[in-house]
Amino acid sequence: MSIPELKWETFRGNAGRELRARREHRGMTAGFFLGLSLLFVPCAPAQRTQLKQGWNKFSPQDDINLGKRAATDAEKLLPPCNAPKVDAYLTQLGTRLAQKLPTGGVQYPFEFHCVNDKAINAFALPGGYVFVNRGAIEAADNEAQLAGVIAHELSHVALRHGTNQATKAMLAETGLGIFGAVFGDTTGGALLTELGSFTAGGVLLRYSRTAESQADVMGTQILYDAGYDPRALAQFFEKLEAETKGKNPPEFFSDHPNPEHRVGRVDEEVEKLGGVPTNAKRDSAEFEAIKREVLALPVVKKPVAGAPGAVAAPAPPSRSFSEYQASSYSLKYPDNWKKYPDSPDSNGGGVSFAPEGGVLDDGSGHSTLAYGLIIGVAQAKGDANDGKALNRATSQVIQDLQESNPNMKITRQGERLRLNGQPGISTFLSNVSPAGGQETDWLVTVLRPEGLVYFVCLAPQSAYDNYDKTFSSILDTVRFTR
Ligand SMILES: [Zn+2]
Repeated sequence: MSIPELKWETFRGNAGRELRARREHRGMTAGFFLGLSLLFVPCAPAQRTQLKQGWNKFSPQDDINLGKRAATDAEKLLPPCNAPKVDAYLTQLGTRLAQKLPTGGVQYPFEFHCVNDKAINAFALPGGYVFVNRGAIEAADNEAQLAGVIAHELSHVALRHGTNQATKAMLAETGLGIFGAVFGDTTGGALLTELGSFTAGGVLLRYSRTAESQADVMGTQILYDAGYDPRALAQFFEKLEAETKGKNPPEFFSDHPNPEHRVGRVDEEVEKLGGVPTNAKRDSAEFEAIKREVLALPVVKKPVAGAPGAVAAPAPPSRSFSEYQASSYSLKYPDNWKKYPDSPDSNGGGVSFAPEGGVLDDGSGHSTLAYGLIIGVAQAKGDANDGKALNRATSQVIQDLQESNPNMKITRQGERLRLNGQPGISTFLSNVSPAGGQETDWLVTVLRPEGLVYFVCLAPQSAYDNYDKTFSSILDTVRFTR
């Protein structure tokens, strides 16, 4: 489960990626039709889909500041390709695409980095810091496909999906643990100082399927406007899917969850744009040369959890406990665990507890929680004894978790229990663990005046038995104080 995600991340297959919140839209995004006139459609453009930014509490300058900090961290964590020609090529290609990006007049400081990682992935931090894995370059059949990936990433930047997610997490006050843990109830300004290095990436990269679909549509428009075959983006995703049928899906899909009808939606947009221009660009000799250079780069091995030499599993939970006092409850947790965020929290926002080594880098600079406990509050109304309201709110939280964690499945549902005398529901879920293999998530929910308080106890399935007792002990110490 990602702590934004502690997120900062990313939640790569972690529970609690993102809570769905009502989307609010605000008009924006001028300049959509800029550049079109230069292109293949000298007459009226078809009605291309107009995309709007979601509600955002941050300013574009916040995007840039946050993104820059996260990019600095990412650069420390991710192995560079160390290939100046490749970086120069990405910069040149990316800049050309960025010029077609509707930013509403904001000047983003675009940067493009090649990461020496064979995993097929790419990500963009707010403000325009784009990281492309060598694996994505190697997987692309031609320049248009690589351009499609970059155009998709740039669209996340222009649509400001990262800080839109952060806004939703903060404003909905649902903050699935991690969110809450990271953001507490701070405001945007404080967020900038609160976000630890390992948290930034996660939250900012946790996209919803809606955001993915938007980035596909805008990415298609950018490809079109830049003179590329606009179907290339969908073709790349289709190819990735086909090549990995029955195997582990490429990493790209864990950061960029596959929206429904992905390919169909792109094709629809291509139609709206007037079809594929006859002289659309597909490949270049330069791309082929760069791809050869990338294929020849030395491979940087990243530690694989569970493999020899990998990060060791955390030390067993201590039997001595420390006390944690939130505004509306208290609990005790093993004293060799650490609380996240480590700042005192003001208002009972989300919080997480994890052993040292329980927070992992998922390999792309995102930190995720692999062992520990996440506590959060989701919006819900109802009396503590109202079983139906409790059921409803619990289902909603599970649904929100699943939306952002496509691999999450309920394994045991709806058992009643009492937590400090209060009626609660116990649900077990499975998910993909950032430590490798499967993860067990034990979700306990209780209705309180402040909303649905939920506890997610999680560990890799293979190690869960070693934590089961500790989780029960922690929950036994929960005392609601109002
Ligand atoms: Zn995406």
